[in-house]
Amino acid sequence: MPAPGDAHLCAQCHQAGGGCCRADADGVEYMFGLTRGEIEGMARASGLEPWQFVVADQASPRFLEFLDSLHPLFRQTMPRGRRLRLRLETDGGCCFLGPEGCRLSREARPLYCRLYPFFVNPHGRLMVLSSPACLAQQGARSWREVLGRLGQDEATVRELFGRLQHLATEHEAARPLELA
Ligand code: SF4
Ligand code: SF4
Repeated sequence: MPAPGDAHLCAQCHQAGGGCCRADADGVEYMFGLTRGEIEGMARASGLEPWQFVVADQASPRFLEFLDSLHPLFRQTMPRGRRLRLRLETDGGCCFLGPEGCRLSREARPLYCRLYPFFVNPHGRLMVLSSPACLAQQGARSWREVLGRLGQDEATVRELFGRLQHLATEHEAARPLELA
């Protein structure tokens, strides 16, 4: 089962210079935070030190408010607003983005990369994070249609979201990860 990012539509997005692995100056504010567990997994898979692919910064109050409207777990990934986000290249692309897409194996990717554009709301409903630029969402009439276009399935999304909840809880309780 492909993850978002591997589907045919996603390849089109990347080839057109767009897609969710890039952020412009405004988009950086809205980048999700990584948990310690995800960072450790990425370091093992890539052979890189966390400081080589992670940037620590402070999430804006506006972004935190937005995340609160989605699910409380997202604030748990940024205790006291401290965010650990993916490092970007000067062209706005994620440091793991190559010409063929993500250079990390699917298992090693941050969970939100694998979930995007889906999340589960506090009432247990599967939702789509609305983005007019996402080709999979354009003209879609339901989240099921977006799932199908991305070759995803509901059970996988729920399983990934459960893993993210677990890692976010651990992340919040752990001492802050220092980047060398
Ligand atoms: S924005 Fe949508 S279509 Fe584009 S790469 Fe991301 S998930 Fe795929
Ligand atoms: S880690 Fe991979 S999937 Fe996630 S933003 Fe970077 S290139 Fe895209």
